[in-house]
Amino acid sequence: MATENELIQGLLLTKKWNDNIVKQLKMITEGKQNFKVVNERGDLIDVPQDYNKGIRFGVTIALNMIKEFPVQMSNESENIESQCPECHLNYSQEELDTFGGVCEDCYEDKNQD
Ligand SMILES: [Zn+2]
Repeated sequence: MATENELIQGLLLTKKWNDNIVKQLKMITEGKQNFKVVNERGDLIDVPQDYNKGIRFGVTIALNMIKEFPVQMSNESENIESQCPECHLNYSQEELDTFGGVCEDCYEDKNQD
């Protein structure tokens, strides 16, 4: 059974993968150049002019199907990330507030002494 952290990592990787593909498809749909293909002799040739529109249309349909990532993720805690004054690592402001201005690890270290 995956831990919550592993699940979040997997989700973030999937989101990144999705962002990359959407970015690449957008470059195709927003591009103006003719598409090129490699023919059987290994030469790079222009796709016939008429086909370019059809290819962009197909890619636009694909883009519309995948551009909305099905899981909503908020950047809220990332945006207000702050440094723990003890270990100088970044934590959410929420965590620092909870443990009196330091991260949970430093808070526990302090309270063990
Ligand atoms: Zn710390």
